Amino acid sequence: MRPDEIESALQGLADEHRLRRRPLLSGPQEPRVKIDGRDYLAFASNDYLGLANHPAIRQAMQQAIDEWGVGGGASALVAGHFDIQQQAEAALAEFVGCEAALLFGAGYAANLGVITSLVGRGDAVFADRLNHASLNDGCLLSRATFKRFRHNDLEHLEQLLRDTPARSRLIAVDAVYSMDGDEAPLRELLQLAERYDAWLYLDDAHGFGLLGEGRGALVEYALHHPRVVYMATLGKAAGVAGAFVAGSRQLIAWLVNTARTLIFTTAHPPAQAAAVLQALQLMEQEKWRRELVKRHISLLREGLRATSFALCSSRSPIQPIIIGGNKETLQLAAALRERGIWVPAIRPPTVPAGSARLRVSLSAGHTHDDVAELLAVLLMLIC
Ligand code: PMP
Repeated sequence: MRPDEIESALQGLADEHRLRRRPLLSGPQEPRVKIDGRDYLAFASNDYLGLANHPAIRQAMQQAIDEWGVGGGASALVAGHFDIQQQAEAALAEFVGCEAALLFGAGYAANLGVITSLVGRGDAVFADRLNHASLNDGCLLSRATFKRFRHNDLEHLEQLLRDTPARSRLIAVDAVYSMDGDEAPLRELLQLAERYDAWLYLDDAHGFGLLGEGRGALVEYALHHPRVVYMATLGKAAGVAGAFVAGSRQLIAWLVNTARTLIFTTAHPPAQAAAVLQALQLMEQEKWRRELVKRHISLLREGLRATSFALCSSRSPIQPIIIGGNKETLQLAAALRERGIWVPAIRPPTVPAGSARLRVSLSAGHTHDDVAELLAVLLMLIC
């Protein structure tokens, strides 16, 4: 991109209804929120359990700021690894049933750091076509041969595994797909990983906190295995920020020594780890949050079943409504906004061309009436 090309490139995006901007929130992350100066009922957040503004987590973080200050100050390997983070790592490892865990500043950084630590030139990575962009970026950055298989197509994956010579292999998948809400066939993927001597890298950004009684996909599918590398983010259901990777002690020691997004970055604020510890407790104690989300999911799906809206096969709080065209999707999102409801319109390149959608995201922060209101407005708009 040359400096004089930006103006026309932006115009091109606008012409294709793909120009993006950041909606401005005035207030905490909650379903009833002021966006761009107007009050909305929002179905747009990944705060699936309604923890992002939980008083106990806020308090834990405030107290931790008094104790630990605000800044990490240095890379974790230099002088930025704190007691409280060590405690959070131990608690996270235990929560998901692994020997050890390692905190990262973000899921994006974790995916880049871990994948590049495990594979490089001469190796091969195999990625589902609907994987999150951060997994793809990790695969590209690793310089390993990069093969993408059709979504959840085990035969296609096996064919690629068979036909791709490599020293070391890694299969990377989302456990729950971020824009479709469906799940990867994890047990079968582990079988393939065993058969072809590969790592199975699991990005559970959208399953952690929900699947496996909140402990995530690893627990839900009993997938503890030396080949499985588990990653989950802490900014979604856990309501805070950051991410962790869990596995064997040896694996974590290797990542501490090689993951560039851990080594060459300033440690995240120690108070964040106190918030994570509190969030873990709530995820365990307040089971009603998962139950409530499940009821919201059923209510919405039942309500839309008899309509022309196309739903995905998702049991997760991610309930996309596929519209197809960018323009039509934007029009529907605008019609919802006129009625005080905020649902994001997701367009290419985030999703494949022709599959633009409304990404409804449900939360334990929503009430039954909130979901009923969304449903009523959607039904009105198509009649
Ligand atoms: N993986 C998946 C599947 C995601 O949906 C996201 C966030 N949208 C990430 C990774 C990145 O996580 P983070 O937001 O913590 O960087």
